[in-house]
Amino acid sequence: MKLVLKADRLIDGTGAEPISNAALVAEDGRITQITTQDQLQLAPGEKVDEISVSGSIMPGYIEMHSHMHCSSELDAYRQITTESNEIFTMRSVKAMRAALSSGVTTMRDLGARNEVAFPIKQAIEDGIIAGPRLIVTGTPITTTGGHCNMFGTEANTEEEVVAAVRQQFKLGAGYIKVMSTGGAFTPGTNVRAAQYPVSTLKAAVKDAERLNLRVAAHCHAAAGVRNCVEAGVHNLIHSSWLHDDPTKLYDYDTGVADEMAAKGIFVDPTLALIHLNELRGRAREGGAGMQDPVRRFEILRDMWDRGVKFVTGMDSGMVNAHFDDFAYIPQVMVERMGITPMEAIVCSTKTSAECLGLEAEIGTLEVGKSADIVMVEGNPAADIKAMHNVDSIIRQGEVVKRQGELLF
Ligand SMILES: [Zn+2]
Repeated sequence: MKLVLKADRLIDGTGAEPISNAALVAEDGRITQITTQDQLQLAPGEKVDEISVSGSIMPGYIEMHSHMHCSSELDAYRQITTESNEIFTMRSVKAMRAALSSGVTTMRDLGARNEVAFPIKQAIEDGIIAGPRLIVTGTPITTTGGHCNMFGTEANTEEEVVAAVRQQFKLGAGYIKVMSTGGAFTPGTNVRAAQYPVSTLKAAVKDAERLNLRVAAHCHAAAGVRNCVEAGVHNLIHSSWLHDDPTKLYDYDTGVADEMAAKGIFVDPTLALIHLNELRGRAREGGAGMQDPVRRFEILRDMWDRGVKFVTGMDSGMVNAHFDDFAYIPQVMVERMGITPMEAIVCSTKTSAECLGLEAEIGTLEVGKSADIVMVEGNPAADIKAMHNVDSIIRQGEVVKRQGELLF
């Protein structure tokens, strides 16, 4: 049976003007018609499954950065270093449900144990558990004792890193994750120093590309940002520009930002992560590279103005970052970085799909594409916070939330 969605407007994810009094038809998991309600073409007397919302139809959200088996709790580090793979798997099942229930129809996991990540992906595809379309890296590639070594593949030399890329490919990774600098989650690692030289990162990128994969690299240190840009890493994570001198904070380099834009490198600034407490009405904010949030947002805004493409990752699983927190990302982009709601919507949908290489399938509402759709109350193009108010969710043509009621 055809699925017919009706709303006050349809925001297609391209940045175009919304369609008023919109109707969308989907059949067999694909979008077959996008039009206005008075132009809607159905056979006379045809029985359809109809959902109407006073609000907006838009593409399903794309969450670009999760750690499915991390707990989001204050002692996330203790849990990740002591719990069993069985507990990790159960945490991941819960995480996938939470993500889907918030309107995330596609998620990229940027680091989880192989024994957990690949079975979870398979279980979603086989319909055993509920979850978004899932792209996984499996274990992140890191140096011995490096950032996230507790669930990573430790690889030091060029040869070892290339072997690690191949191992993840063999397991079914849809993206490769490399830790190019230390990180706050892993005590003792140096957030202000690079973990790999350019030559090693280049070797990883070259071999990943041979296998039709892309590389996302964690980088807090400015040295790591520079190395990744020079190596042609496809997607920078955090991009915190931390100075190597601990008495200084940032070492932002506009020349490198221009190079990022010229090379078409995507940046996932994980910019909502350390504001979640504040957004939930609590006092504390902070985190690696965020001692001066005002300057941090000025830097991000400058990168944006230079043409760097931003994608929407939460780093869910890290302390405070829950798997159903997605809508805070576009909210912070608008409220703190100062881009328009429509620009933040495009980052959350089209641009993130492009970063995944899935733009032919998802990210915008177009005839022929997968029916990955959310219906929200209100108008997010006017008030970005409307993205929190998800009324209905369609995942690959299947209604998984209908007018406020979860169906899984
Ligand atoms: Zn992360």
